[in-house]
Amino acid sequence: MADEPDALATEFDEQDFIPISALEHYAYCPRQAALIHVEMVWDENLYTQRGRFVHEIVDQPGSETLGEIRVERALPLWSRGWGLVGKADVVEFHGETPYPVDYKHGPRRRREHDDLQLCAQAVCLEEMTGREVLRGAIFHATSQHRREVVFDPALRRRLRGAVAQLREILQGHTLPPAPNDKRCRQCSLKSSCLPMVVAEEKRMARLASALYLLDE
Ligand code: SF4
Repeated sequence: MADEPDALATEFDEQDFIPISALEHYAYCPRQAALIHVEMVWDENLYTQRGRFVHEIVDQPGSETLGEIRVERALPLWSRGWGLVGKADVVEFHGETPYPVDYKHGPRRRREHDDLQLCAQAVCLEEMTGREVLRGAIFHATSQHRREVVFDPALRRRLRGAVAQLREILQGHTLPPAPNDKRCRQCSLKSSCLPMVVAEEKRMARLASALYLLDE
């Protein structure tokens, strides 16, 4: 196996599994993951609607064979070693070796949160099949192009760190601070999160306390 989950050697109980989708949200913005998966906040914007539309294509479970490759759609995934659960859009079986393919809206581009989510699918498939999964791909719906992702040790280490930090947030019910940066422009939760307001927390507290200072 390319990378045993040594830091997560204990087996997780099902109630402690975390959704792979939460990992993608965490990798985009830890506060977003907490708002969705702890506070249960969900708002739609153009980007989430586009994402939902793309996933409707691959959300129907099914199986087919294309030449030498067996293709499974909407395949349930889990790993007791990593404590993860989720679903793969598409898994191709090249012989007995799984090759996960995740569908994303937008043009071909590299994004860390996409790679982490795909790597999480790969470690689940490794545990489920006993096969090493070294590669997968992101299919970018707008450009209709695949981008191959290699699940190398560095990506697996980043995955391990992200899973551990996300677990702390979900189990501790904590809400991380708002980075209030360019990520917020495309975030559907902006009106619930109010990043500009909470990022100004100290200044707001100073101004609020000044309201109650009386002139001598
Ligand atoms: S608005 Fe910004 S800080 Fe708030 S959840 Fe979205 S990306 Fe994170």
